[in-house]
Amino acid sequence: MTLIVASLVERSISGIANSAKVAFKQGADLVEVRLDYLGKIDTSKLVDVKNAIAEPTIATLRSWNEGGHSNLPEQERSYLIREILTFGFECVDLEITTDKTILEEVKWMSGKPQLIASRHFQKPASMSEVESSLTEACRLGDIGKVAMRCDHEGHALMLADIGLRFSQAGERFVLIGTGPHGFLTRICAHEMGSALAYACLDGKEAAPGQLNIPAQMEYLEKQMTILGLLGHPVSHSVSKPMHEAALKRARLAGTYLQLDVPESCYSRRTLEVLRDLRFKGINVTIPHKQTTVGFCDEATSSARVIGAVNTISFNGEKIVGENTDLFGFSKLIEGKIRFKRKTAALVIGAGGAARAAVHVLKLKGAAVTVTARRLPQAQGLADEDKVKARSIESLDSPDARYDVIVNCTPLGMKGMPAKNPIPGNLIRRGTVIFDLVYNPPVTPAVRAAKRKRTRAYSGLEMLVQQGAKSFRIWTGKNPDAAVMRNAARRALR
Ligand code: NAP
Repeated sequence: MTLIVASLVERSISGIANSAKVAFKQGADLVEVRLDYLGKIDTSKLVDVKNAIAEPTIATLRSWNEGGHSNLPEQERSYLIREILTFGFECVDLEITTDKTILEEVKWMSGKPQLIASRHFQKPASMSEVESSLTEACRLGDIGKVAMRCDHEGHALMLADIGLRFSQAGERFVLIGTGPHGFLTRICAHEMGSALAYACLDGKEAAPGQLNIPAQMEYLEKQMTILGLLGHPVSHSVSKPMHEAALKRARLAGTYLQLDVPESCYSRRTLEVLRDLRFKGINVTIPHKQTTVGFCDEATSSARVIGAVNTISFNGEKIVGENTDLFGFSKLIEGKIRFKRKTAALVIGAGGAARAAVHVLKLKGAAVTVTARRLPQAQGLADEDKVKARSIESLDSPDARYDVIVNCTPLGMKGMPAKNPIPGNLIRRGTVIFDLVYNPPVTPAVRAAKRKRTRAYSGLEMLVQQGAKSFRIWTGKNPDAAVMRNAARRALR
């Protein structure tokens, strides 16, 4: 069971007494008094702190080196820590760097408080550094604790991976990812095996990214539907508001996380960790869609046809990969093109989305040509689907005429160069343009098409439709596509 600890960062004894009352009323199991926030403290202050709270309390004097406010010289700190240990606090948090000697000394003393042996990394550390610190902390304390700043969710998933393994080994520990990218470690504290989940009173964070007590409780106690988008980057995406609106409409308590995981941090283990944290499903985006095929136990026919996965679900231990872009693209173009035998279609890009576009356009009977900045990539895709490939440079010629053009590159997307990927000579009146990019809503390609008074559509409808299908796979419920569309539109404003 994971207990909720309310961290109190008050500057006065009366503040501590009041906040402790509120914290227990809100459902905290114990409070942590951050003594380093009290300024200069002596024995009389310790008596007052102890008397201010009747319920179980952790006393912490976080040092400056570990991100706290106490910068006492070594001898003074050591003296004060020894005092704290004798004051009847149920639990005391000591640092495995600063307080190692004391920890070694008191570990086996009878009648001592419970000891949390902790280490706080102010910047991301490697997996082996965190593992060895946690091993040391578990050896020195009754509970070992490591907190580390996360710069992306790859770091948080690394902590979760370590947590799952320590939990299997029966260790009592706490692992926390600090900062907004550590959120995952807070909401999945129980699944990771953390003995304690640190929370705060509203607006009084003791560490960046801490949840307030009611929110932390909700994640620990409710059956949550946890979903997410795994990619790099993911900040342009509006999948979060879109799926969260669908969850709300379907009356499912849950959340959709943006999981920014760089390629160097991505492996099959990433998916195993998400499965073991009881994620219900994951969307996969640029640049991981194709790599993900090899990480799945089962790939459905849509994923095999496209050679890319954009939707992961878990069937017991099995990791199942699907591709809902195929469905999304079919819905995007539905009713917008009258296909004839010689409808000429150009697909720009040779990644996962391009594969979906080529497949659907070919099924509709179009004569498809693929182009990409690297011709061998375009040729590879074209050979697989038995269509044509040509270089981007060769498109600057009078014989290059297309009825339908689909941009399947990220060019024009928020955060990428604001460049129209479609050669200007190809945009003519009557050409129908689809830009799979949807953020910004009016992309450079769509703007160029409008200038030439030809029809152009962004990728928003594809996003909604592929998302709706993923949602059905994960929850078994038919989402309200209009609710998803509106939420995505609002987020794009
Ligand atoms: P992907 O598998 O990584 O493929 C991207 C393709 O674009 C590759 O051919 C890549 O070429 C090319 N590319 C990347 N950067 C480029 C640049 N600066 N200039 C020219 N070409 C570049 O990605 P994807 O999953 O196919 O996605 C492609 C785009 O479609 C993304 O913007 C994505 O957000 C969008 N998309 C939208 C939806 C939707 O629902 N609306 C669904 C899927 C995808 P290299 O191989 O040379 O890198």
